[in-house]
Amino acid sequence: MTRRSRRPARRIALTALPAAVVLVALGTCAAPAVPPPRAVTAAGTARPAGQAAPVVPDAAMPLPVAPAGPATFSYVGELTQGGYIRGRVPGGTRALAIDGTALRFAPDGSFFLAFDRDAGPAAMLSATLGDGRRVDASLAIAPRGWDIEYVNVGKRPGEAPSAEYERRRGPELARINAARAIDGASGGWRQKFIWPAIGRISGKFGSQRVYRGEPGSYHSGIDIAGGSGTPIVAPADGVVILAADAPFTLEGHLLMIDHGMGLNSAFLHCSELEVKEGDVVHQGQFIARIGMTGRATGPHLHWSLKWRDRRLDPLLFTGPMR
Ligand SMILES: [Zn+2]
Repeated sequence: MTRRSRRPARRIALTALPAAVVLVALGTCAAPAVPPPRAVTAAGTARPAGQAAPVVPDAAMPLPVAPAGPATFSYVGELTQGGYIRGRVPGGTRALAIDGTALRFAPDGSFFLAFDRDAGPAAMLSATLGDGRRVDASLAIAPRGWDIEYVNVGKRPGEAPSAEYERRRGPELARINAARAIDGASGGWRQKFIWPAIGRISGKFGSQRVYRGEPGSYHSGIDIAGGSGTPIVAPADGVVILAADAPFTLEGHLLMIDHGMGLNSAFLHCSELEVKEGDVVHQGQFIARIGMTGRATGPHLHWSLKWRDRRLDPLLFTGPMR
C-alpha cells in the first residue's frame, strides 16, 4: 500500500523562482509515521564581519558578485533526504558555501543545492558579502522513511565476475566518471522536471534490503516499467555527456545528461538512443527508448539523478505521475 498526501508549498515573493513545488510524502505500510517532506522558505540573518570563519572560494570557480537585493537567503524546494532547494543568495554575495564547501551561484544570484539519500539532519548555508559580512541560513533536513525489507537469508556471495566483465568494467566506469566530471552551463537545473517516460513505478528510490542484519546497496534511482520501445524524453534541458552506443555490462545502452550546476541524469537499459554525446537537448525532447539492455530482468527505465556525489530522489523533482 502506498499512502500519499499532498499540500501546497508556501510561495515566496521572488518572481524568478519556479512556481511553488508540489509536495509528496511517500509513506509505506511499514513506516506510516514518516513526516512528509517540507517546503521551505527561510531567511538568514546578517552578522558583523569577524564572527565566523571566512568562506573559502574554490579558485577554479568563476566568482560573480550577486546583484543587489535583500540581505537574506530565499529558497524553495524539498528540504528532505534525497531532495533539493533552488534559491537566491543575499544581494552582494561574493562567496557561497554549504558546510564550509564552496558552492557556485549564477550571475543573477540563483543557486541549486541538494541533499543525499543519507544526508544528516542539518546543514549550514553561508554567504560572504562584498563588504565582508556573513549571512548564514541553518537548514533542517527532514529524514525519510525508506522501504527497507528485512530478509532472513544471508547476502548472496554473488557470482565471481567473468574475465570479460573485468576487462570491460574499468573502461566503462572511467567513461561514467569522466561524464560526471563535466560541469556544463545548461540551465536545466532551474526547471521543474517532467517525467521522462510514462509507465508503472516498479522500483522506488532509496529502497533497500537487509540480509540478516547486513544491508545491501539501496536502489539509486526510480524504475519505470514500460513496454520495450516506449519513448523516453528529456526531463529537463541539458547536454548529452554520455551515450553508450555499445551497451555497458550493467547499464546497457546508458544515456547521461548534464543539467548544469553539477546536476545530472542517467537513463539505463535503453533499447535505442536517439541523441549523441555533445547534443543539446530540451525538456520533452525524444532522447531514447525503454529496453532491457545490460543487467535487467524486464524492460524498464532506471532513471537516476545526482548532484555532485549526492544521490537524489527523482520523484521529488517531478511530483507524482499523472
Ligand atoms: Zn532501478
